[in-house]
Amino acid sequence: MRLLLKNLTIYDGGVFRRGSVAVCGDRILGFDCALDGATVLDFGFSNCYAFPGFADVHVHLREPGFSYKETIQTGTKAAARGGFTYLGAMPNVNPAPDRPSHLQLLTDLIETQAVVNVYPYGTITAGQAGESLSEMEAIAPYVLAFSDDGKGVQSDACMEAAMKKAKALGKIIAAHCEDNRFTNDGVVHDGVLARKLRLRGIPSQSEWRQVRRDLQLAEKTGCAYHVCHVSCKESVELIRQAKRKGVNVTCETAPHYLLLDDLLLEDDGRFKMNPPIRSRADRKALIDGILDGTIDMIATDHAPHAPLEKKGGLASSVNGVVGLETAFPVLYTGLVKTGILPLEKLIELLFENPSQRFSIGTPLSPGEPATLTVFEVDTPYTIDPDEFCSLGKSTPFEGWQVYGRCLLTLCGGNIVWKERLV
Ligand SMILES: [Zn+2]
Repeated sequence: MRLLLKNLTIYDGGVFRRGSVAVCGDRILGFDCALDGATVLDFGFSNCYAFPGFADVHVHLREPGFSYKETIQTGTKAAARGGFTYLGAMPNVNPAPDRPSHLQLLTDLIETQAVVNVYPYGTITAGQAGESLSEMEAIAPYVLAFSDDGKGVQSDACMEAAMKKAKALGKIIAAHCEDNRFTNDGVVHDGVLARKLRLRGIPSQSEWRQVRRDLQLAEKTGCAYHVCHVSCKESVELIRQAKRKGVNVTCETAPHYLLLDDLLLEDDGRFKMNPPIRSRADRKALIDGILDGTIDMIATDHAPHAPLEKKGGLASSVNGVVGLETAFPVLYTGLVKTGILPLEKLIELLFENPSQRFSIGTPLSPGEPATLTVFEVDTPYTIDPDEFCSLGKSTPFEGWQVYGRCLLTLCGGNIVWKERLV
């Protein structure tokens, strides 16, 4: 296929330039060049940007085992509609990818169903039970990294053994940090909302105490360590200090922790996830962490569920909200348009940094795979979960008026998302 994408502002290695992108087959042929016989898509009708396809290292695609919540096909279509073309798929599926035969089931599904690039995580422990290590060595060549996401690894000895092995295998440990001794059976952050609604609160120490332990273990073992979904100010400060000391650590946070705090929530399942949305001070610390480079990337923690599972308000709904189809627009509207972040910085967080740390993704450059996304940013619209490709419809951003609509996503030269009006 030959495609000429005209009148775009192109993200070209950290700077923006006006021009056109020529795509021939699965590659980017060049910028501003003629292409005989090409299908022309002219974006000159509005203010449109071309970015490299985004990388989200924290996504739940729910297969195998939970296809009533999401499938690899619907989840990757949602990714394409959100501009994401590289996904790290979390391993809390059934069977969990803790050995080669289980991982094979997952990679077979990815091969036949995924419309964007999906890289599976392997588990840290067998069956994510937290007791013995998974077959890390055997699955290492085929996994993005190791994670027990959904649960913290409670045993210090087990985490240390995992880090030593990951270090030897040259792999990252990506940790969901949660110390079960301090969770208090809570359902929301232990703060103003918990008191107002008389709900049990989850103290921040359930997160940061395990972050602190893991940072000590990462320093001791030299393991490449990544903290998933950082939500509280203490974790940000611990990671900042560890980076100063030279510990091999990176971390992510998610859009909902940057754009919401517990003063803004209602008693609705679409505000329930783990870790919970915390206080205004935590939110500010996360933004400061983004600005000074302590927080390396933004991941969505896209965690779809069936509608019935999210109907129980904050007390009884299950944890998790979707994020792939709202991440760019809410971040662009809430952080870029407001002047908090330059657009280049947002692309660092959604592409450059995750791409570098996890060795995934290719730049938007001549000769590289034609894997890119085009967003229009001048026309406001309202987030409507009924329009989602994801089977999950529960989002804290429902009804928000935002800027940033994905018009086109290419993955290896294939059109994997195209808005009707293009
Ligand atoms: Zn998690």
